[in-house]
Amino acid sequence: MDAVGIIEKKRDGLALTRDDIRFFIDGYCEGDIPDYQAAAWCMAIYWRGMTREETTELTLAMAESGEIMDLSGVMGTVVDKHSSGGVGDKTSLVVLPLVVSCGVPVAKMSGRGLGVTGGTLDKLESIDGYNINLTHQQFLDHIERYGIVLAGQTADLAPADGKLYALRDVTGTVSCKSLIASSIMSKKIAGGADAIVLDVKTGSGAFMDTIDNARELAQIMVEIGRGANRRVTALISDMNQPLGRAVGNAVEVREAIETLRGQGPADLNEHCIVVAGHMLRLAGKSTSQDLSDIRTLLEEKLQNGEALEVFRRLVSSQGGNIEQVDNPDLLPQAPVIRQFRADRSGYLSRVDAHEIGVSVLNLGAGRKKKGDAIDHAVGAIINHKVGDRIEAGEVLFSVHASTEDASQQAAERILAAHSWSDTPVDKLPLFYDTIFSD
Ligand code: URA
Repeated sequence: MDAVGIIEKKRDGLALTRDDIRFFIDGYCEGDIPDYQAAAWCMAIYWRGMTREETTELTLAMAESGEIMDLSGVMGTVVDKHSSGGVGDKTSLVVLPLVVSCGVPVAKMSGRGLGVTGGTLDKLESIDGYNINLTHQQFLDHIERYGIVLAGQTADLAPADGKLYALRDVTGTVSCKSLIASSIMSKKIAGGADAIVLDVKTGSGAFMDTIDNARELAQIMVEIGRGANRRVTALISDMNQPLGRAVGNAVEVREAIETLRGQGPADLNEHCIVVAGHMLRLAGKSTSQDLSDIRTLLEEKLQNGEALEVFRRLVSSQGGNIEQVDNPDLLPQAPVIRQFRADRSGYLSRVDAHEIGVSVLNLGAGRKKKGDAIDHAVGAIINHKVGDRIEAGEVLFSVHASTEDASQQAAERILAAHSWSDTPVDKLPLFYDTIFSD
């Protein structure tokens, strides 16, 4: 067996065996297969695709390239969630405490934002002192002691994916569904998950621009889960407009805290209840696919402060300043905060997530390249949704910026991200589809 033969096999459209895939992944990790051969292999996969069996084998080979987290002794059924990322997506900050408040422990490794897609770790670092760098042992200790842990990936989690993803990023081979699905699922499996809720976003602010593409990616991941003996529920959710109102880092943490106090925006509140409900169903706490038997409990946990109490526990256990949770005015605040008003009346027909994401990135809330420093204080509050009726003079959005110039530039772009209609416009759905592995 040799690398050239395996590249040629895929180039010619043939299916790779488990041994071919293991040989390639192991060789690449050990440095026996160089980047140029791995790049050629990824490009061959990009054009020729992979069968579901090949994709599952690739996922397992990458998951097993490092240590597989074993949480079974601590947690029983381990339920994880993954969002394919979007603008204003602070779901994890609400969903994890909510699930824990219903009696199911959660240990999650999250990522940083890149481009217009925000990252949970960046948001959490708006809180003074919050430590996202836990060792494998600390991660295990935290889950045992506090029932909740939310940190960055440990160094040894699916290293083959880390290496391959960096290569794909610079060789035009990221947007291949088999490669994306195996990349995501390898990390979830290595993270110890028995069951996974996937929140696959579709729309202008998401990786998958159409519902069909999102559904296909979701189906591949659900099948990988089945092939690897994991239960998976995939939600196809809208990302044409931001989720909730806040887009940035500290502003999103504040909105997450409001939601944990039962005072969040309706769309974010509902989104979190659905994601948490599906996690609880996979953990055996609900038996209905429509979550009708668990919805009231979830709403109660947001209203009665129990979910917020778990968030306080999470923040203090990881060294964060709990005062900022109790009083979000203490979170980083931008020096320039300006409101912008509608200069006409009408119905909103577009609130473009991608354009708003770029505007907030340009304010400094995100990174243009890996390693850039970010400004936790800046961001935007987008007050309205597609379908809302607005009267001239109403506040359309606010910008939190480091300078007047930056605020003005962002405002112009955010204003252009809003489109109008004189006649009523339908609201966008929160979810388009749900795919169950069981
Ligand atoms: N997120 C991942 O983790 N991997 C991909 O390939 C794409 C998005």
